[in-house]
Amino acid sequence: MQVNVLSKEHDAGYPELMQQLHPFLWPVSTTRAQGHLVLGGCDTTELARELGTPLYVLDELTLETTARHFISALAAQYPGPSTIHYASKALLNTALAQLLTSWGMGLDCVSLGELAVARRAGASPEHVHLHGNAKPRRELEQALAWGVGRIIVDSLDELRVLAELTRNRAAQGQQRQRILLRLNPGINVHTHAHIQTGQLDSKFGLPIKTGMARAAVELALQSPGLELMGLHAHLGSQIDEYAPLALGVERLMAFAADSRAEFGWELRELSPGGGLGVPYREGDPAPDIEAYIQTLADTVTAQCTRHGFELPRLVLEPGRSLIARSVVALYEVVAVKPIPGIRTFIAVDGGMGDNIRPALYDARYSVIQADQVEADPVETATVVGRYCESGDVLLRDVALPATQPGALLAIPMAGAYTLSMASTYNLVPRPALVGVRDGRARVLQRRETFEDIMRRDMLLDELDGEK
Ligand SMILES: *Cc1c(COP(=O)(O)O)cnc(C)c1O
Repeated sequence: MQVNVLSKEHDAGYPELMQQLHPFLWPVSTTRAQGHLVLGGCDTTELARELGTPLYVLDELTLETTARHFISALAAQYPGPSTIHYASKALLNTALAQLLTSWGMGLDCVSLGELAVARRAGASPEHVHLHGNAKPRRELEQALAWGVGRIIVDSLDELRVLAELTRNRAAQGQQRQRILLRLNPGINVHTHAHIQTGQLDSKFGLPIKTGMARAAVELALQSPGLELMGLHAHLGSQIDEYAPLALGVERLMAFAADSRAEFGWELRELSPGGGLGVPYREGDPAPDIEAYIQTLADTVTAQCTRHGFELPRLVLEPGRSLIARSVVALYEVVAVKPIPGIRTFIAVDGGMGDNIRPALYDARYSVIQADQVEADPVETATVVGRYCESGDVLLRDVALPATQPGALLAIPMAGAYTLSMASTYNLVPRPALVGVRDGRARVLQRRETFEDIMRRDMLLDELDGEK
């Protein structure tokens, strides 16, 4: 598969460091000075000294370039209307939402928490969509009250609640709530079982096969407060082949044709979700945004011709493929333990609390020593975290220079499903996210404090005083 995530313009200017490092694993602004890794014009050793570690560094240029590339490639290759919605669950905070919306992205949310951040960031509700397989009633009420652009309905039960909550809208002259139905198209993709979502045996989506999807169309069309705009599917994440994504579109459109025949309903919007994979290590397949968009655009266009549809609005929902490469995680080495004949453990000051992916689904990353980028690797080591679990292993069998306590390690491709899945296990505060660009560093989300962690805790004295 060919590799080309960012525009030639930026890649051509790739600094000489890129001759050593795998070019598509590091942010576009990556360079080096005095043997140190430099991101967005900022020396990572200085960032670590000033802001502490673990530290997540977001290269704003990489993010902007990738975001604009998604939008322009879709507009160029799909002749109908189109939108890119960032799947917020990959990584979200208010400043990040502000940046993305300022570049023309919509936001996909899966909870009231994510909706609250989108609101605080000033996102227009019309460009915010609510997803989720089990949206509690109060979340639906809030989403309706805020006026989110679309609710992506995942079950018949959710649809019944929505129909009830919106029943009087039409009578009261209010706009109907626009919805999409998330279908389960019964497609297996080759990715880790925990991140497959399109197979029939999945908690996600209304199965086409069992007739539940058809029943949902019927109910949606009978609900006076709802306007069924279109269909949605999301097959899974970290997908590195385009064929199943195209098949997903074909199944949705065939279903839309059946629904038109039976109910006279016209498809106006279509979303094949997100799911495009990224490389994490040298030698990993590197799916190409351009080719991915081309495949989807061509498939939708061809299926429209085949079924005699007008081109629907095409909505793509990238999470990982939009954010992963923009972020590098920095850790300080705390201890080195060689066990002759077995392995060397390098323990760092973060781990599964800020990045659970290696423990959760055997995710593999690459690493360099950021304060010695030119040093040759001399040993194979296992990099472990500081959390009290033997499974807290960040990197297995990686090549590093002779690493000492105090050394700075940098893990690229750290933007997606890391901080957004972070926990306060062991009551270790969650790391900061600092944005870098043109030599300027700004903390987009500060490190958690002990006060933050203890804010919910009660003192027994206070409780007794309330009696
Ligand atoms: C998680 C999710 C996405 C994004 O998936 P990525 O693999 O991060 O691109 C898109 N759409 C829906 C509905 C999702 O749940």
